[in-house]
Amino acid sequence: MKKQYMSYQESLDFLHKMEKTYPDLIEIIKIGTTYEGRDIVLAKISKNVETADKKPAMLYTGSVHAREWIGHELALKFIEHVAENQDVDPELEKSLTDSTIYMVPCLNPDGYEYSRKHFSFWRKNRRVNHDGTVGVDLNRNFSIGFVKQKDTSSNVYGGEEPFSEAETRAMKEFVDAHDNITIAFDYHSQGNVFFPAHKFMHEAEIDGTDMNALCANMNYEFAKVTGRKYGIHRGKPPAHLISGSGREYYYSKGIIAVVVEVGTKNIPDYMKSMSGSINENIPALQKAFGEVINYSSSAPKRVEEFTIDSRDAHSVTLVWKYEQRNDIFFEIYRSTKDKDACNESTKVGVVGENSFTDTDLNSSTNYHYTIRAVNKNSGYKSAFAPIVKVRTALEDSEFFKLIFANKSGTGYVGQYTQEQNRAHFGLNSLFVGINKSRGICDAVVSFDLDSLPENAIIKSARFYIYPMNRVAAKIEKFGEWNLSLLKEESFSEVTDFEQIDNAEAKGVIGRAIQSSNLTQGIWNHWSFSKHECRLLQKSLNNGVATFRLDGPKTLPHGEDSQLMQFDIGYGQFGGGIHYRPILDVKYTLKNEKIKLNPTTQATICMDKKEDGLKSGFDADGHRVYGYIDFDLSQLPDPQNTMITQCALRISAKNTFKKRSDIRYYVEMVEVDEVGSYDDIKNRDKIEYIGYEVAESDLVKNDCQYFNFDTFAKNNLDMIHQEGKTLKLVIKPTSAQGAKSRVLEWNSNVELIVNYIPKRRIALPPVENLNIKKENKMIKISWEGIDDEALNGYYVVRNTFHTPKHFMDGVKIYGGKDTWTYDNFASFDKEKYYAVFTYDDVPNFSEPATLKYNPLEKY
Ligand SMILES: [Zn+2]
Repeated sequence: MKKQYMSYQESLDFLHKMEKTYPDLIEIIKIGTTYEGRDIVLAKISKNVETADKKPAMLYTGSVHAREWIGHELALKFIEHVAENQDVDPELEKSLTDSTIYMVPCLNPDGYEYSRKHFSFWRKNRRVNHDGTVGVDLNRNFSIGFVKQKDTSSNVYGGEEPFSEAETRAMKEFVDAHDNITIAFDYHSQGNVFFPAHKFMHEAEIDGTDMNALCANMNYEFAKVTGRKYGIHRGKPPAHLISGSGREYYYSKGIIAVVVEVGTKNIPDYMKSMSGSINENIPALQKAFGEVINYSSSAPKRVEEFTIDSRDAHSVTLVWKYEQRNDIFFEIYRSTKDKDACNESTKVGVVGENSFTDTDLNSSTNYHYTIRAVNKNSGYKSAFAPIVKVRTALEDSEFFKLIFANKSGTGYVGQYTQEQNRAHFGLNSLFVGINKSRGICDAVVSFDLDSLPENAIIKSARFYIYPMNRVAAKIEKFGEWNLSLLKEESFSEVTDFEQIDNAEAKGVIGRAIQSSNLTQGIWNHWSFSKHECRLLQKSLNNGVATFRLDGPKTLPHGEDSQLMQFDIGYGQFGGGIHYRPILDVKYTLKNEKIKLNPTTQATICMDKKEDGLKSGFDADGHRVYGYIDFDLSQLPDPQNTMITQCALRISAKNTFKKRSDIRYYVEMVEVDEVGSYDDIKNRDKIEYIGYEVAESDLVKNDCQYFNFDTFAKNNLDMIHQEGKTLKLVIKPTSAQGAKSRVLEWNSNVELIVNYIPKRRIALPPVENLNIKKENKMIKISWEGIDDEALNGYYVVRNTFHTPKHFMDGVKIYGGKDTWTYDNFASFDKEKYYAVFTYDDVPNFSEPATLKYNPLEKY
């Protein structure tokens, strides 16, 4: 095949030649005739192609828009790849045995030829409209949301009525007659982005996770070939329905439907860029083809009520519902990234029962889980259950804050737009990079740090930002985007380009993000190293941290734009709080220290109890136990402090010249009454404290420190909360046995306790949760909590189940009001709400929950 775009006639000749060469695999059928009389053809591809229509199928349409040539070209290359590898690649062979591909390489042949020969920027078909203008935008001529426009010369003119055009009619008739289609791709250019179908209700849909996972798994294949990732964009509010598109028509038929926008230009350099786009899409399409059967009636059904059962700082337990079946197991995928692959690379569990515990996680970190059921015999997989998002709990000594970018300090400054730069702040979005008219553009993102205590010790931080559009980043693999934390004293005016562009940085955060990985519709984040956390910590005194995001500062010859657009969640076109840049900070506080002296120090021998602290072996070889107890009421209020570390410090009064093998253990014990030897001997041991001490250690070190491990520390914590006394026993051991060897300990025994002030227990949940309709929106209100410790209320919506956790759904509100509107909720869809109260740790309360029922009157 030559390395240049094929004409439509060459394409037809190629397809018919393939049909002749591979008669069992490929059948070319005509599905319509265009306005100018060209054949619209579809290639059926399957093993024993005469059975193709009986198998689940993937539909492919290319070049619906005339100037978007890649869809056509990719289709031909993909067909060639499939034909040549059908018996070579076992994965492909299996897919072709089980399933079918329907390909319409070019759905707009008239427009395509016009674009090739006369006017490369032509988009529509070539029909003559009633008023003499030419062309209908075929991707506005389908029926879902069809809008009849007056302006027939518009590039997006959708025609007289739905399916007025031969091309769309051909697709409707074919799709209506083929309910075996489960996945459909419509290939366009440009943007390197997936646009999965949408019901435009701004609420999660049951197959939303399927579409995201399908695209993310294709991304995984792209990255292997070119290092590139595409954006995955599901219309974020306030998105408008694209009227009359093919994608929504296919989706309305129950088909998983995705538009793929390939490349960064409509008609890129064939050999330099186009070939890369094609090479990355062939394996990705093949993977997607392998999924076709998983959305057919042969596949197991979707897991239900996939949710969080419990979580702590380092583990998460997930549960779900599924009928008991011996031929089914479950695959669980985990990621810390937004819209990540759900494949071997992220699979963390394969289980038979309906629960899974994921361990060794990081504290206070967001994890995303997906699950599918798999049939053991066929290998077919179910659709995905809706994604579950969870944040692991804090460790005892930790706190976190999610800080949103402030309005006045967040905007962008352009080199040639100095007069307007002030107006770029707190409004809509950030442009970062360079273009011909604005020059170099830097973004400034500022965070108020006053919600963090000044003595906070930052343990980790992440900067999240949402790339909303990369259409103006037109050059493949060119430039990188860097985040710097600025020195506050090196600029005085955030809206001044020169000052910001020249401002000194305290440091560059994390690594640069390459243009090929700056994907729209997928949250990006930079993680701070320990060193960078210390730099951020230094900004605490200023009460604000100011970051600069910059991109490429030069353009290659002949290029006009490499600009990336990020959302700031402010202004009419911002996506609201849900899309605002976030600084996610985990911190601790400096430990306070308290030393306790024992209330009792005693020595318990076989036949007597003595004052003073001794341990060892008596003349008959019986153990002599040392006993100490501490009154924990001297420690600060357990409700508002957390013990972070604890150690027992003791020192020996005498040492022995002659060696023995005696070693001393300290045990935390539970005894009612101290006194009788039997009580101690038959004590309930709770836990050893630290390591044992050998006699030789006594000579080496003046003092012995017995450090409490996590279990012992937790027990101490419990004893403290319950108001009990801490009881410790020093127990001697000897393998050889010893006699008349008693060690005396100094009386200056200390329990050294480190703690931090931290609220331990969550506030109570709110009461009298109420729902009503107001101003065409759903309004949720509740009775406030009267407590000084209250930091706010957090409202979450979940379309599928009651939210159990503050991350288990879409955040609707966070703040101190006792009501909120859910701006984007549909009246027609069932859903669940949960309201959590939170304090400054934050500890989140149990949820107060409510179900919205569309059939009920509110
Ligand atoms: Zn297009």
